[in-house]
Amino acid sequence: MVEERPVYLDHNATTPLDPRVLDAMLPFLRERFGNAASKTHPFGWEAAEAVDRAREQTAALIGATGKELVLTSGATEADNLALKGAAWKLRDKGRHLITATTEHKAVLDTCKHLEQEGFEVTYLAVDRTGRIDPEQVAAALKKETILVSLMLANNEVGTLHPIREVGEILGRHGALFHCDATQAPGKVPIAVDDLGVDLLSLSAHKFNGPKGVGALYVRRSGKRPRLEPILHGGGHERGMRSGTLNVPSIVGMGAAAEFALAELPAEAARLAALRDRLERGLLEAIDETAVNGHRESRLPNTTNLSFAFIEGESLMMRVPSMAVSSGSACTSASLEPSYVLRAMGLPDEMAHCSIRFSLGKGNTPEQIDVLIPRIVEAVAFLRELSPLYEEAKKKGLSWVKNR
Ligand SMILES: *Cc1c(COP(=O)(O)O)cnc(C)c1O
Repeated sequence: MVEERPVYLDHNATTPLDPRVLDAMLPFLRERFGNAASKTHPFGWEAAEAVDRAREQTAALIGATGKELVLTSGATEADNLALKGAAWKLRDKGRHLITATTEHKAVLDTCKHLEQEGFEVTYLAVDRTGRIDPEQVAAALKKETILVSLMLANNEVGTLHPIREVGEILGRHGALFHCDATQAPGKVPIAVDDLGVDLLSLSAHKFNGPKGVGALYVRRSGKRPRLEPILHGGGHERGMRSGTLNVPSIVGMGAAAEFALAELPAEAARLAALRDRLERGLLEAIDETAVNGHRESRLPNTTNLSFAFIEGESLMMRVPSMAVSSGSACTSASLEPSYVLRAMGLPDEMAHCSIRFSLGKGNTPEQIDVLIPRIVEAVAFLRELSPLYEEAKKKGLSWVKNR
C-alpha cells in the first residue's frame, strides 16, 4: 500500500513551489547560465535582463520600484541587513532601537547581537491578541532612536500590527522604519508608501517561490536609508550585498511575486473562507478551545488554536494525516512553549496545547472536511486520558472562558 501524504497545513513555515514558477526558472538552470555581472557577452546580458525583470515584478508586489530592492538569500538576511546595516551606519547619530517581543528570531536575535555591541533595544510588549499599540511606539521614541522594526503579520498567530499608524508617527521623527513583511505577500496587500516604511523584508519561499532568495526594500525617496553592508566583495547590489546573483531563484521570485499580486484578491478570500470553515468546525465540535491572536486583524490563512487539557504534540501524533506545527518548539531535550504565545500572556499549559494551522494554494474544502472529524475524535480520545479534564468537567471549571 502507498503511504498517504499528510494534508499540508503549514504554509507559514514554507510553501510549495508553484509549477509555473519552476517553468520560469528552468531555462536559467540550463542553457541561460550566465553571470548577471558579465558585461562582455550575451550570456551575461540575458541573465542581467532576466534579473531586471524579476526585480520589477518583485517590487510591484510591494508598490516599490526595482531600483529600491537589494536581493538577498531570504528574509533572515534581509532582516539582518536592515537592522545591522542601519545601526552600524547610524551609530554616531544614536544607538537606540525599538522592536516588539513577538518578532521573528531573525529580528530578535539580531537585536540581541546589537545589544552586545553597545546598542540599546526597547522590546515593546504586545496585548493578548499579539498587537502593539502605536502609542507605545510614540512613548518609547527618544532623540537617539535610529530604527523601529515591527512585523506586518505574525508567523505564529497571524496577527497584523497597525503598521500604517506607526508609519505616521515615525514620519514626524527621524528614526527609520523597518517592517518584516515576510508573511504578507499573496495574503494581504502591501504598499510601502501607504505603510510609511523605509525598509521591508521579503522571502520568496513564503509565497510559492523558491527557497534561499528574498529581498530588502530600501526607500530611495524621503529618508533614503543608507546601510553598512554585511557581506563585502564584488560590490553587487550597489555595494549593499556582494555576491554573484542567484539568477534562477531571482527569476523564480519575480514570477512568484507576479502571481501572488495578481491572484491576491481571489486567493485571500478563498483562504479566509477555508480557514473559517476549519476554525468554526473545530470550535463548534470541541469545548474548551480558544483562538490565539486577533480575530479580525489577522492573516486570512492562519488560525492558532489551543485545545485545553491536551498536548499539541500528542494531537499531531494522533492525526498523522495533517502537517501542522505546535506552540511548543521541540528543542533537543525540553518542550519550550512558544515565546510568541507567552508574550501574549498565555499560560504555559495553553501554549503547550496549541496548534497552528496555516493554509495555502493547494488546500481544498474537501481536505478540511476530512480532517475536522479526525481532529475532533483525537481530542476526545486524548481528553479521555486526562484526569485534569475530568476534574474540570466535574467542578464546572473552564480554562478558556475568560480569554
Ligand atoms: C520565514 C520568516 C522569516 C525567515 O525567512 P527566511 O527567508 O526563511 O530566512 C523571517 N520573518 C518571518 C516573519 C518569517 O515568517
